[in-house]
Amino acid sequence: MGRLFIISNRLPVTLSVEGDKISATASSGGLATGLSSFYKDAGGLWFGWPGISFDDVDAETGRKIEELLINEHQCGAVKLTEEDLENYYYGFSNKTIWPLSHYFTNHTVFDNDLWKAYKRVNQKFCDTVVEEIGDDDVIWVNDYQLMLLPNMLRQKLPHASIGYFHHIPFPSFELFRLMPWRREILQGLLGADLIGFHTYDYVRHFLSSVRRILGYENILGTVSSGYRTTKVDAFPMGIDYEKFHKATKMPEVKHELDKIWQQVGDRKIVVSIDRQDYTKGIKDRLEAFHIFLHRYPEYKEKVSLIMVTVPSRSQVPSYADLKSEIDELVGKINGEHGTLGWMPIWYHFRSVPFPMLIALYSFADIALVTPLRDGMNLVAKEFIATRPTERDGDVGVLIISEMAGAEKELGEAVIVNPFDHDSVADSIARALRMPAEEQRRRIIPMQERLKRYDITKWAGDFLQTLEDIKSQQNRLYSKKLSGRLRQDMFERYGKSSKRLFLLDYDGSLKHLEDNPMQATPDDEVLEILSAITSDEKNELVIVSGRDRATLDEWFGNLQAGMIANHGAWLKHKGQEWEMLEPLDNEWMKNLRPIMQLYVDRTPGAELEEKEFSLVFHYRRAVPEMAHVRVSELKDDLRTMTTSLNLGILEGSKVIEIKNTNINKGNSGLRFINKAEWDFVMAVGDDWTDEDMFTVLPGNSYSIKVGLVPSTAKYHLNDVDAVRDFLKNLLGLKS
Ligand code: UDP
Repeated sequence: MGRLFIISNRLPVTLSVEGDKISATASSGGLATGLSSFYKDAGGLWFGWPGISFDDVDAETGRKIEELLINEHQCGAVKLTEEDLENYYYGFSNKTIWPLSHYFTNHTVFDNDLWKAYKRVNQKFCDTVVEEIGDDDVIWVNDYQLMLLPNMLRQKLPHASIGYFHHIPFPSFELFRLMPWRREILQGLLGADLIGFHTYDYVRHFLSSVRRILGYENILGTVSSGYRTTKVDAFPMGIDYEKFHKATKMPEVKHELDKIWQQVGDRKIVVSIDRQDYTKGIKDRLEAFHIFLHRYPEYKEKVSLIMVTVPSRSQVPSYADLKSEIDELVGKINGEHGTLGWMPIWYHFRSVPFPMLIALYSFADIALVTPLRDGMNLVAKEFIATRPTERDGDVGVLIISEMAGAEKELGEAVIVNPFDHDSVADSIARALRMPAEEQRRRIIPMQERLKRYDITKWAGDFLQTLEDIKSQQNRLYSKKLSGRLRQDMFERYGKSSKRLFLLDYDGSLKHLEDNPMQATPDDEVLEILSAITSDEKNELVIVSGRDRATLDEWFGNLQAGMIANHGAWLKHKGQEWEMLEPLDNEWMKNLRPIMQLYVDRTPGAELEEKEFSLVFHYRRAVPEMAHVRVSELKDDLRTMTTSLNLGILEGSKVIEIKNTNINKGNSGLRFINKAEWDFVMAVGDDWTDEDMFTVLPGNSYSIKVGLVPSTAKYHLNDVDAVRDFLKNLLGLKS
């Protein structure tokens, strides 16, 4: 494995430049803690924006900044300007992707200029990092500000291991489809080898968008996009559990606890801590607390809500508006319910230092975490980790929104719908009355879970999965027909005098088209095929799922053998078509009405009746629905065809039912057994070609098109690589 590079919008280091004095302060945030040991040990760098705009930074200062970041923090700066920040960060990232991903369409802005800035700055990240990163390195790209970067990097570093982690929700297709640049964004992400999300729901949403927008299917989360694959999986991000669990023992925390105690005494405390963001549900939480005060007057003067909201993205108008709304609501509730000695809500609009944060987590009786939508929510996890469960008595209660990703791992908490203010109010009362024994029963399993899957485990798990994917790919790459392997093959070709070429057409010699009728051979492919047939030492066989008439029309002028209908028909050079074996078509009568029923229930699907097979086409059907129907149909067919010697063949958006004896292997054998070949080469791209690969003599060259698992001995990347390879072999290219 090469070095490890981390890329995120923000570096875990903040610069400050005052005259000649440059200093850098390291962040102790979760991601920084989780990743630093990995990339530092692996000799890599962390790239990102260090927190100052570079408009006025001269070359000399720029050089000093770079030196400081590299030498003291193993970091590299991406030099963003005011304009970059305005349009890429506050603009497209936080006015478009953020609100849409959190289901806030009312705050979502679609503006082509912001999109252009987003593309330009992603390219800036790419250009900055490729100067340092090599093709055998590992790259971990983080978050929604950099969704185009994986594919940009892939173009420059085709063999690098690229992982991408998405720290916010991925919305359902119905939301994501609103994005005018949805295709580019998905293609940008699919440049990665591994894409991670916090929960399986986000994985499902992403895969559904990929299927419906790009038409790429997946098998157990592995998406095949043309000739590459990308694994998509859930890795719920953890926290630095020990740091939080031990923190209550810090003297600074004890000091803060004393201060809080002096203020609130024996009152019960509900704590709420978040960035001031419309996704966090702060207004709804206040409404719910307001209802609680009305409904449960016995708690007046006995309970206070300490609400910390950390200033955030105030340049974005929807954030600035939120501040005045919250200020007003807090004022209203305190005005209505407060007394001389008691304030229902202690509201702080600022960030709090770590000891104060821990003091709040450990002093509170209840943490009220009710985002309307949240990718994960670390505050909830940090509250649980901080609670000292070693001692007897109350250990505290977490109330968490079902819209937070963290809820998936914190099922023992009190779970609420943040829009249901009445029920949130009741949950506060319920939590206040919860017996100590029940509190412990809920919290302890959550603590154990968070301790097991902490931030280091999370990062290690993601990187290990990326490494496993790379070693799988390397096994394929080791079989790539290039370098020495290719040279050996060319030499053997030169020395041989009886050669057989078994070449699949669609997907191997010709790119797959959305409309298969547009796949007519072009001049280049005909030139290659004629060059094969014009050498009398060569015999060419075109192997295809297409019917006889099409093959005759396209390749009839070539001196070539042909296999049609996946092997039902074959034709030796210069002879007539013959059937592989006499076939019984009686089964079609029984299966046709069943398949017709499925077609009728799937708008856009069609039934094609071939000579020896029935084909269910669903390319034009709504993918999600087709997916369900196809699974049902396959199930039905499997039960009905077991005794009939019929097989189900799955192609690209088609299912074909045919006699199992018909395959490219059995028909290929007719050509293989015809002579003593001293050079056999077979090329194919999909799984119908696997039958052909398995019947080849031991010293043949079986070549799979695409870097996906296969029984073939060798691989070529794509159709262009096949054409290029054949042209070199045949001397059409020097
Ligand atoms: N936090 C902080 N300063 C504060 C309050 C909170 O650094 O004054 C931290 C908190 O410990 C947590 C993070 O900010 O780690 C918030 O993460 P979360 O996932 O809850 O929300 P996000 O802000 O990422 O949407």
